[in-house]
Amino acid sequence: MKLLSWNINGLRANLAKTPGQSFDAFLRGCDADVLCFQETKLTRAEMSSDLACPDGYDAFYSFSRRKKGYSGVATFVRSAALATLEADTNLCTLQEGRLVQTVHREFVLLNTYCPAHGGNLARKMEFHTFLSAHVASVQAAHPDKPVVLVGDLNVIHKPIDDCGVFEETEGTVWLDQLLSEAGLVDSFRHVHPGASQAYTCWRALTSARETNYGVRIDYILLDGHLLPRLTACGLWPEKEGSDHCPVVATLAVADADAGPTTAAACAKFYPEFAGKQMRMQAFLGGKSSPRRPSPRAGKSAWQQQTFRAFLTAPPPTMILAPAEAGPTESIETIAEFQSVARSWKALLPGRPPPPPLCSGHKEPSLLRTVLKRNDNYGRKFYICAKPEGAPGDPKARCDFFQWAKRPAPVSESTAKRSRPNTES
Ligand SMILES: [Zn+2]
Repeated sequence: MKLLSWNINGLRANLAKTPGQSFDAFLRGCDADVLCFQETKLTRAEMSSDLACPDGYDAFYSFSRRKKGYSGVATFVRSAALATLEADTNLCTLQEGRLVQTVHREFVLLNTYCPAHGGNLARKMEFHTFLSAHVASVQAAHPDKPVVLVGDLNVIHKPIDDCGVFEETEGTVWLDQLLSEAGLVDSFRHVHPGASQAYTCWRALTSARETNYGVRIDYILLDGHLLPRLTACGLWPEKEGSDHCPVVATLAVADADAGPTTAAACAKFYPEFAGKQMRMQAFLGGKSSPRRPSPRAGKSAWQQQTFRAFLTAPPPTMILAPAEAGPTESIETIAEFQSVARSWKALLPGRPPPPPLCSGHKEPSLLRTVLKRNDNYGRKFYICAKPEGAPGDPKARCDFFQWAKRPAPVSESTAKRSRPNTES
């Protein structure tokens, strides 16, 4: 049985990177029996029958109720490979769709997306504490079934998992405790104890994946009792579509009584997809029935159409911004960027001047915009066009930074105040 865990950084955004790709094809392309996705960013209202009833898979979604288009995890189980006996998608204490639990004959699977630090450590640790307690309660409720905990834990475990200078954090301490108290093992590290530069997440804004300047924060944690059945575990850094890559493990687990689930939390039982479910039952009963929209499918037909629009929509423009290159700049959202870009265009019609060459590589630099709400908001600057990487890596960005000339005159006091310390 092949198990994959992947922070897909927006299911629709990920799908849109391969125009015309169906959701079924996307799942098949992930090539696993059990797929655990994090950060789906889906809302319940966006569900289409494609997503709820993928061919051959039972689908279990947890949505954020607190914030739309945020967080969210989903587990897909190939029903011919593994029966899902029970499922719970409403466990997240933060109401942010961060946990899906599925119970199988041989193990209990927890698919989780832990909060990033994001300036709110208390909230992050609240979820981590909940998760540890939940693992303990699952172990108490299912003493015969080992726990498999997978997902984006947003924790760098050891110095070897960090491209930069590793620092022990509250998250590190939590993960150490979880592993020892719950008897879980980091399956990738178990199989590859000395593998360095084995990362699962890279900063997209700085193209750091190109120089493999990343961190390992995505895990498949196995109950120690399952280790004899772990036959392989690896990362899949070539798999594109997200700022994370999948972690994949193969377990010598077979389920002779596999079949489609009857667990009520399965998305195929959502009332609006009852039409498709009936067709599935007809199929399972040996009768094939034509794929004709049922009267009840009216609502989902509309949703399906919007989903198709997502599939055929061109991928969003990639916005690059330095996170640390300059003194203040970072592009926070594409919408913000576009609004600044529009105002810039209004001020400076025509083509921008050719960019200066960066000091380290003598290559044309990139023009960027400050989008942090500070004195330099909206200002343009040039940075090295290379991706972020380790200091001294010639393929990585040099420290070139230069403000672009302002297109319109500014008052003397503003110009002085906004002059950065690093400018030479
Ligand atoms: Zn350079």
